[in-house]
Amino acid sequence: MKVHRPVGAPLLLALLLCPAHAQETSTPETLVAAAKRAAGQDYAGTFLRVCVAPDNLTPRPPPNPAAARTVPDRAAWYAQPYKVFDNLYFVGTKIHSAWALTTSDGIIVIDTLFDYAIEPEIVEGLTKLGLDARNIKYVLISHAHGDHDQGAALLQTRFGAKVVMGAPDWDSTLQRPATAAGGVPKRDIAVGPEGTKITLGDTTVNVVATPGHTPGTLSYLFPVKDGGRSLVVAYSGGTAFNFPRLAQNFAIYRDGAKKMGEAAKSAGATILMTNHTEFDRAYDRARLAQLPRAAGEKHPYETDAATVQRYFEMTGLCAESQRLSME
Ligand SMILES: [Zn+2]
Repeated sequence: MKVHRPVGAPLLLALLLCPAHAQETSTPETLVAAAKRAAGQDYAGTFLRVCVAPDNLTPRPPPNPAAARTVPDRAAWYAQPYKVFDNLYFVGTKIHSAWALTTSDGIIVIDTLFDYAIEPEIVEGLTKLGLDARNIKYVLISHAHGDHDQGAALLQTRFGAKVVMGAPDWDSTLQRPATAAGGVPKRDIAVGPEGTKITLGDTTVNVVATPGHTPGTLSYLFPVKDGGRSLVVAYSGGTAFNFPRLAQNFAIYRDGAKKMGEAAKSAGATILMTNHTEFDRAYDRARLAQLPRAAGEKHPYETDAATVQRYFEMTGLCAESQRLSME
Protein backbone atom coordinates (compact mmCIF):
# COMPACT_ATOMS: atom_id res chain seq x y z
CA MET A 1 0.00 0.00 0.00
CA LYS A 2 1.29 3.40 -0.91
CA VAL A 3 1.45 5.87 1.96
CA HIS A 4 0.86 9.50 1.10
CA ARG A 5 2.62 12.25 3.00
CA PRO A 6 -0.11 14.44 4.50
CA VAL A 7 -0.36 17.91 3.00
CA GLY A 8 -0.55 20.44 5.83
CA ALA A 9 -2.84 23.45 5.73
CA PRO A 10 -0.17 26.03 4.72
CA LEU A 11 1.07 23.81 1.91
CA LEU A 12 -2.49 23.06 0.82
CA LEU A 13 -3.17 26.79 0.72
CA ALA A 14 -0.04 27.28 -1.36
CA LEU A 15 -1.19 24.56 -3.76
CA LEU A 16 -4.56 26.21 -4.19
CA LEU A 17 -3.16 29.68 -4.55
CA CYS A 18 -0.29 28.80 -6.82
CA PRO A 19 -0.74 26.03 -9.39
CA ALA A 20 2.84 26.55 -10.62
CA HIS A 21 4.10 25.78 -7.12
CA ALA A 22 1.82 22.73 -7.00
CA GLN A 23 3.63 21.32 -10.02
CA GLU A 24 6.91 21.31 -8.09
CA THR A 25 5.69 19.90 -4.82
CA SER A 26 2.68 17.73 -5.59
CA THR A 27 1.89 14.54 -7.36
CA PRO A 28 -1.53 13.45 -8.59
CA GLU A 29 -1.62 11.10 -5.59
CA THR A 30 -0.91 13.77 -2.97
CA LEU A 31 -3.56 15.97 -4.54
CA VAL A 32 -6.11 13.14 -4.44
CA ALA A 33 -5.23 12.53 -0.79
CA ALA A 34 -5.71 16.24 -0.03
CA ALA A 35 -9.03 16.19 -1.92
CA LYS A 36 -10.17 13.17 0.09
CA ARG A 37 -9.49 15.05 3.31
CA ALA A 38 -11.29 18.14 2.01
CA ALA A 39 -14.29 15.99 1.01
CA GLY A 40 -14.58 14.23 4.36
CA GLN A 41 -17.91 12.49 4.79
CA ASP A 42 -19.80 15.56 3.54
CA TYR A 43 -18.80 15.12 -0.10
CA ALA A 44 -17.57 11.51 -0.23
CA GLY A 45 -19.78 10.55 -3.18
CA THR A 46 -18.75 13.58 -5.20
CA PHE A 47 -15.09 12.90 -4.38
CA LEU A 48 -15.40 9.35 -5.72
CA ARG A 49 -17.10 10.58 -8.88
CA VAL A 50 -14.58 13.29 -9.78
CA CYS A 51 -11.33 12.18 -8.13
CA VAL A 52 -11.34 8.37 -8.16
CA ALA A 53 -13.39 7.47 -11.22
CA PRO A 54 -13.70 10.58 -13.41
CA ASP A 55 -16.23 10.13 -16.22
CA ASN A 56 -13.76 11.07 -18.96
CA LEU A 57 -11.03 8.62 -17.88
CA THR A 58 -12.17 6.08 -20.46
CA PRO A 59 -13.30 7.30 -23.87
CA ARG A 60 -17.02 7.04 -24.49
CA PRO A 61 -18.90 7.32 -27.76
CA PRO A 62 -20.37 10.81 -28.13
CA PRO A 63 -24.11 10.98 -27.44
CA ASN A 64 -26.22 10.65 -30.55
CA PRO A 65 -28.77 13.49 -30.50
CA ALA A 66 -30.72 11.83 -33.29
CA ALA A 67 -31.26 8.65 -31.28
CA ALA A 68 -34.82 7.98 -30.18
CA ARG A 69 -35.58 9.71 -26.92
CA THR A 70 -36.43 7.28 -24.19
CA VAL A 71 -38.34 8.44 -21.15
CA PRO A 72 -37.33 6.44 -18.09
CA ASP A 73 -39.91 4.79 -15.89
CA ARG A 74 -41.64 7.59 -13.95
CA ALA A 75 -41.36 5.66 -10.69
CA ALA A 76 -37.57 5.88 -10.98
CA TRP A 77 -37.44 9.69 -11.12
CA TYR A 78 -40.70 11.40 -10.11
CA ALA A 79 -40.45 13.35 -6.85
CA GLN A 80 -43.10 15.33 -5.03
CA PRO A 81 -42.40 19.07 -4.84
CA TYR A 82 -41.38 20.43 -1.44
CA LYS A 83 -41.09 23.79 0.25
CA VAL A 84 -37.53 23.68 1.60
CA PHE A 85 -36.90 27.26 2.76
CA ASP A 86 -39.33 30.17 3.27
CA ASN A 87 -38.51 31.32 -0.29
CA LEU A 88 -37.07 28.20 -1.99
CA TYR A 89 -38.99 25.21 -3.31
CA PHE A 90 -37.64 21.91 -4.63
CA VAL A 91 -39.30 21.07 -7.97
CA GLY A 92 -36.71 18.55 -9.16
CA THR A 93 -36.69 14.81 -9.68
CA LYS A 94 -35.09 12.20 -7.45
CA ILE A 95 -32.00 12.60 -9.66
CA HIS A 96 -31.85 16.17 -10.95
CA SER A 97 -32.56 19.37 -9.06
CA ALA A 98 -34.72 22.28 -10.08
CA TRP A 99 -35.67 25.05 -7.68
CA ALA A 100 -38.19 27.86 -7.52
CA LEU A 101 -36.84 30.94 -5.74
CA THR A 102 -39.73 33.20 -4.83
CA THR A 103 -39.31 36.97 -4.64
CA SER A 104 -41.54 40.02 -4.05
CA ASP A 105 -41.98 40.30 -7.82
CA GLY A 106 -42.26 36.75 -9.13
CA ILE A 107 -40.38 33.48 -9.37
CA ILE A 108 -36.85 32.62 -10.49
CA VAL A 109 -36.53 28.99 -11.64
CA ILE A 110 -33.07 27.46 -11.33
CA ASP A 111 -32.49 24.62 -13.82
CA THR A 112 -35.22 22.94 -15.81
CA LEU A 113 -34.63 19.15 -15.96
CA PHE A 114 -35.08 16.85 -18.95
CA ASP A 115 -38.04 17.71 -21.15
CA TYR A 116 -40.15 14.81 -19.85
CA ALA A 117 -39.99 16.22 -16.30
CA ILE A 118 -40.80 19.88 -16.96
CA GLU A 119 -44.61 19.55 -16.85
CA PRO A 120 -45.00 17.11 -13.96
CA GLU A 121 -42.23 18.52 -11.77
CA ILE A 122 -42.01 22.25 -12.43
CA VAL A 123 -45.33 23.35 -13.95
CA GLU A 124 -47.58 21.03 -11.91
CA GLY A 125 -45.19 21.12 -8.96
CA LEU A 126 -45.59 24.89 -8.60
CA THR A 127 -49.38 24.50 -8.66
CA LYS A 128 -49.23 21.81 -5.97
CA LEU A 129 -47.15 24.18 -3.85
CA GLY A 130 -49.70 26.97 -4.26
CA LEU A 131 -47.49 28.93 -6.63
CA ASP A 132 -48.37 30.16 -10.12
CA ALA A 133 -46.08 29.27 -13.03
CA ARG A 134 -47.30 32.41 -14.82
CA ASN A 135 -45.21 34.35 -12.29
CA ILE A 136 -41.94 32.81 -13.51
CA LYS A 137 -39.84 35.79 -14.65
CA TYR A 138 -36.39 34.27 -14.99
CA VAL A 139 -35.03 30.80 -15.74
CA LEU A 140 -31.39 30.31 -14.80
CA ILE A 141 -29.62 27.46 -16.58
CA SER A 142 -26.47 26.20 -14.88
CA HIS A 143 -25.19 24.64 -18.09
CA ALA A 144 -26.34 23.40 -21.47
CA HIS A 145 -26.74 19.70 -20.89
CA GLY A 146 -30.16 18.18 -21.48
CA ASP A 147 -30.74 17.21 -17.85
CA HIS A 148 -30.75 20.93 -16.93
CA ASP A 149 -31.79 22.89 -20.02
CA GLN A 150 -34.38 20.86 -21.95
CA GLY A 151 -37.29 22.37 -20.02
CA ALA A 152 -36.22 25.97 -20.63
CA ALA A 153 -38.01 26.48 -23.95
CA LEU A 154 -41.40 25.55 -22.51
CA LEU A 155 -41.07 28.05 -19.65
CA GLN A 156 -39.93 30.71 -22.12
CA THR A 157 -42.71 30.22 -24.68
CA ARG A 158 -45.60 29.46 -22.32
CA PHE A 159 -44.88 31.94 -19.52
CA GLY A 160 -42.63 34.52 -21.15
CA ALA A 161 -39.76 33.82 -18.74
CA LYS A 162 -36.34 35.21 -19.64
CA VAL A 163 -33.73 32.45 -19.96
CA VAL A 164 -30.25 33.15 -18.57
CA MET A 165 -27.33 31.01 -19.75
CA GLY A 166 -23.57 31.25 -20.14
CA ALA A 167 -22.70 32.73 -23.55
CA PRO A 168 -20.75 29.67 -24.81
CA ASP A 169 -23.52 27.33 -23.64
CA TRP A 170 -26.16 29.26 -25.61
CA ASP A 171 -24.22 28.27 -28.71
CA SER A 172 -24.45 24.55 -27.92
CA THR A 173 -28.09 24.76 -26.82
CA LEU A 174 -29.12 26.51 -30.01
CA GLN A 175 -27.50 23.75 -32.07
CA ARG A 176 -29.27 20.86 -30.41
CA PRO A 177 -32.32 19.28 -32.00
CA ALA A 178 -35.69 20.43 -30.71
CA THR A 179 -37.08 18.27 -27.94
CA ALA A 180 -40.70 17.50 -27.27
CA ALA A 181 -41.28 20.06 -24.54
CA GLY A 182 -41.26 23.40 -26.31
CA GLY A 183 -38.25 22.87 -28.59
CA VAL A 184 -35.09 24.96 -28.33
CA PRO A 185 -35.21 28.25 -26.40
CA LYS A 186 -34.45 31.47 -28.22
CA ARG A 187 -31.40 33.37 -27.00
CA ASP A 188 -32.26 35.73 -24.14
CA ILE A 189 -29.61 36.71 -21.60
CA ALA A 190 -26.08 35.49 -22.35
CA VAL A 191 -23.63 35.74 -19.45
CA GLY A 192 -19.95 36.33 -20.21
CA PRO A 193 -16.88 35.53 -18.11
CA GLU A 194 -17.48 38.58 -15.91
CA GLY A 195 -20.77 37.14 -14.57
CA THR A 196 -23.84 39.21 -13.82
CA LYS A 197 -26.48 39.93 -11.22
CA ILE A 198 -30.14 39.07 -11.72
CA THR A 199 -32.44 41.11 -9.51
CA LEU A 200 -36.15 40.41 -9.22
CA GLY A 201 -38.10 42.39 -6.61
CA ASP A 202 -36.35 42.04 -3.26
CA THR A 203 -33.96 39.26 -4.33
CA THR A 204 -30.63 39.32 -6.17
CA VAL A 205 -28.87 36.27 -7.56
CA ASN A 206 -25.15 36.76 -8.08
CA VAL A 207 -24.31 34.80 -11.23
CA VAL A 208 -20.68 33.62 -11.30
CA ALA A 209 -19.20 32.28 -14.54
CA THR A 210 -17.42 29.03 -13.59
CA PRO A 211 -16.35 27.38 -16.86
CA GLY A 212 -15.09 23.82 -16.58
CA HIS A 213 -17.90 21.28 -16.68
CA THR A 214 -18.97 23.11 -19.84
CA PRO A 215 -17.45 26.29 -21.31
CA GLY A 216 -20.43 28.38 -20.14
CA THR A 217 -21.21 26.83 -16.76
CA LEU A 218 -22.79 29.31 -14.33
CA SER A 219 -22.83 29.05 -10.56
CA TYR A 220 -24.98 31.12 -8.21
CA LEU A 221 -25.05 32.85 -4.87
CA PHE A 222 -28.47 33.73 -3.53
CA PRO A 223 -30.22 34.36 -0.21
CA VAL A 224 -32.70 32.00 1.39
CA LYS A 225 -34.71 32.40 4.58
CA ASP A 226 -35.15 29.70 7.20
CA GLY A 227 -37.91 30.77 9.56
CA GLY A 228 -37.05 34.37 8.74
CA ARG A 229 -33.32 33.84 9.28
CA SER A 230 -31.20 34.79 6.25
CA LEU A 231 -28.68 32.33 4.87
CA VAL A 232 -26.63 32.31 1.66
CA VAL A 233 -26.59 29.42 -0.82
CA ALA A 234 -23.59 28.65 -3.03
CA TYR A 235 -25.01 26.71 -5.98
CA SER A 236 -22.36 24.89 -8.01
CA GLY A 237 -23.43 24.75 -11.64
CA GLY A 238 -21.38 21.82 -12.95
CA THR A 239 -19.60 18.92 -11.33
CA ALA A 240 -18.59 15.84 -13.31
CA PHE A 241 -15.48 15.56 -15.47
CA ASN A 242 -17.30 14.55 -18.66
CA PHE A 243 -15.69 17.20 -20.86
CA PRO A 244 -12.94 16.31 -23.37
CA ARG A 245 -9.93 14.99 -21.49
CA LEU A 246 -7.42 17.78 -22.12
CA ALA A 247 -5.04 19.26 -19.54
CA GLN A 248 -6.26 22.73 -20.43
CA ASN A 249 -9.85 21.78 -19.61
CA PHE A 250 -8.86 20.57 -16.15
CA ALA A 251 -6.99 23.85 -15.56
CA ILE A 252 -10.12 25.80 -16.52
CA TYR A 253 -12.23 23.66 -14.19
CA ARG A 254 -9.70 24.08 -11.34
CA ASP A 255 -9.74 27.87 -11.76
CA GLY A 256 -13.55 27.93 -11.85
CA ALA A 257 -13.70 25.99 -8.57
CA LYS A 258 -11.26 28.43 -6.96
CA LYS A 259 -13.23 31.43 -8.23
CA MET A 260 -16.51 30.08 -6.89
CA GLY A 261 -14.92 29.13 -3.56
CA GLU A 262 -13.73 32.71 -3.16
CA ALA A 263 -17.12 34.12 -4.17
CA ALA A 264 -18.86 31.79 -1.68
CA LYS A 265 -16.49 32.90 1.04
CA SER A 266 -17.06 36.63 0.37
CA ALA A 267 -20.81 36.07 0.39
CA GLY A 268 -20.70 34.11 3.66
CA ALA A 269 -22.35 31.03 2.12
CA THR A 270 -23.13 28.26 4.59
CA ILE A 271 -25.22 26.11 2.24
CA LEU A 272 -23.81 24.16 -0.70
CA MET A 273 -26.14 23.11 -3.48
CA THR A 274 -25.51 21.42 -6.80
CA ASN A 275 -27.82 20.35 -9.61
CA HIS A 276 -27.62 16.57 -9.21
CA THR A 277 -29.15 15.16 -6.05
CA GLU A 278 -26.27 12.67 -5.72
CA PHE A 279 -23.86 15.55 -5.08
CA ASP A 280 -25.80 17.49 -2.41
CA ARG A 281 -28.48 14.98 -1.30
CA ALA A 282 -31.13 17.47 -2.39
CA TYR A 283 -33.97 14.95 -2.49
CA ASP A 284 -33.16 13.64 1.00
CA ARG A 285 -32.70 17.12 2.42
CA ALA A 286 -35.93 18.37 0.83
CA ARG A 287 -37.81 15.57 2.59
CA LEU A 288 -35.94 16.06 5.86
CA ALA A 289 -36.91 19.74 5.74
CA GLN A 290 -40.57 18.68 6.05
CA LEU A 291 -40.03 17.22 9.53
CA PRO A 292 -40.24 19.18 12.77
CA ARG A 293 -36.90 20.25 14.25
CA ALA A 294 -35.78 20.35 17.85
CA ALA A 295 -35.08 23.76 19.36
CA GLY A 296 -31.79 25.07 17.93
CA GLU A 297 -31.54 22.26 15.37
CA LYS A 298 -30.15 23.49 12.05
CA HIS A 299 -31.94 23.28 8.73
CA PRO A 300 -30.87 20.03 7.00
CA TYR A 301 -29.13 22.05 4.28
CA GLU A 302 -27.26 24.42 6.59
CA THR A 303 -23.58 23.71 7.26
CA ASP A 304 -20.94 26.37 7.83
CA ALA A 305 -18.61 28.47 5.70
CA ALA A 306 -15.67 26.06 6.12
CA THR A 307 -17.75 23.09 4.93
CA VAL A 308 -18.83 25.02 1.84
CA GLN A 309 -15.18 25.91 1.19
CA ARG A 310 -14.14 22.26 1.40
CA TYR A 311 -16.42 21.42 -1.54
CA PHE A 312 -14.64 23.81 -3.88
CA GLU A 313 -11.21 22.87 -2.52
CA MET A 314 -12.00 19.22 -3.20
CA THR A 315 -13.28 19.68 -6.76
CA GLY A 316 -10.36 22.02 -7.56
CA LEU A 317 -7.81 19.55 -6.19
CA CYS A 318 -9.39 16.68 -8.15
CA ALA A 319 -9.18 18.70 -11.36
CA GLU A 320 -5.57 19.64 -10.66
CA SER A 321 -4.65 16.00 -9.92
CA GLN A 322 -6.11 14.95 -13.28
CA ARG A 323 -4.29 17.77 -15.06
CA LEU A 324 -1.01 16.84 -13.40
CA SER A 325 -1.47 13.15 -14.24
CA MET A 326 -1.52 14.08 -17.92
CA GLU A 327 1.89 15.78 -17.91
ZN1 LIG B 1 -23.73 18.37 -17.23
